[in-house]
Amino acid sequence: MYWEEDIKDELAYLDDIFQKRHLVITEFAEQPWLTVNGRKMLNLASNNYLGYAGDEELKKTMSDAVMTYGVGATASRLIVGNHSLYEKAERALVNWKEAEAGLIINSGYNANLGIISALVPRNGFIFSDKLNHASIIDGALLSRAKLQRYRHNDVNHLESLLKKVPFESRKLIVTDTVFSMDGDFAKLEELVKLKEQYNTLLMVDEAHASGVYGKNGEGYSYFLDLQDKIDIQMGTFSKALGSFGAYVTGKQWLIDYLKNRMRGLIYSTALPPAILGAIKAAIEKVQQDTDRRLLLQQNATFFRKALTYEGFDTCKSQSQIIPIVTGENKRTMQFAERLQEEGIAAIAVRPPTVPQNKARIRFTVTADHTREDLDWAIKKVSQIGKEMGVIQ
Ligand SMILES: *Cc1c(COP(=O)(O)O)cnc(C)c1O
Repeated sequence: MYWEEDIKDELAYLDDIFQKRHLVITEFAEQPWLTVNGRKMLNLASNNYLGYAGDEELKKTMSDAVMTYGVGATASRLIVGNHSLYEKAERALVNWKEAEAGLIINSGYNANLGIISALVPRNGFIFSDKLNHASIIDGALLSRAKLQRYRHNDVNHLESLLKKVPFESRKLIVTDTVFSMDGDFAKLEELVKLKEQYNTLLMVDEAHASGVYGKNGEGYSYFLDLQDKIDIQMGTFSKALGSFGAYVTGKQWLIDYLKNRMRGLIYSTALPPAILGAIKAAIEKVQQDTDRRLLLQQNATFFRKALTYEGFDTCKSQSQIIPIVTGENKRTMQFAERLQEEGIAAIAVRPPTVPQNKARIRFTVTADHTREDLDWAIKKVSQIGKEMGVIQ
């Protein structure tokens, strides 16, 4: 056995091709200015789109719940971990989403793993957009069903794949609604048509859309008024809703089935009661928060337009996720380093997360950023872009 040698070789290789990852130490990431390895920087890397992670009301709700109920759930939900706050939070969830039933799950990663692997049998088929989140792929692999990845947002490609499988087989089409690396939207109208035509279930992952899109922040499906046509709606409380955890909503039979078959629910400790308190409060708050949603969209549009005007390729971003394509890994890493030196925290996204030579810097804006913050960042980013020959 040569475990150590082999693994060290692989790490050295990752380093050579500028794909080795390092953990940095952060504090105050819930704020527009955070510290990274002790240095203050503008936070253009968080998913805290509405600023809820640092919200005073939510902080108070959560700390009160800690003092009343303690720090942990003590067991899984099917044992004694199903705290009464689950019931309250799930009722708030179902009201918010106007769904028949809903379930809170320990994290978005767990949700996708658990839902997909519980639902799709080994002789079933899963059709997944090529740019879907890794947790969807992992769930599909765990199900051992046949996984077919269609080209990003290419409904013709998807249809050609759907045509080849038996009409009566169990089929699932699954997509992110807002794609996490490109910041563009799924073509939900077309997916709904295909789903109806080919007798499949449709599942959406609203991780980046929960709290952000729709009249009451219910998600992008609601923005398009397609919610009643989508069988499985998954989203998270860990991004715009500020804390932690995820949800799934749908028909009663779906939720009952997941309670019986989803291994992540059965074999993992329940969420701490205080998190459930924060989730419930965030669901109630977000429905009233049209102003912050608007502010977020204004910030996103402002930042995206300014970078495009400067000559950057912002892919097909239409959301608060705004990438700029920088190309090769090496140049991208240097770009990210220069941003850090100038006091901007943004992440470099490299293969295999994105295609070769399509490495990018990914910015996310929040409702908490001021116009001065963004103006300052645009100047810095443009200056570095010119230095490095990314723009003219
Ligand atoms: C972040 C994310 C997840 C994972 O959610 P967590 O709560 O962080 O585990 C799943 N899907 C998508 C599209 C995401 O962006």
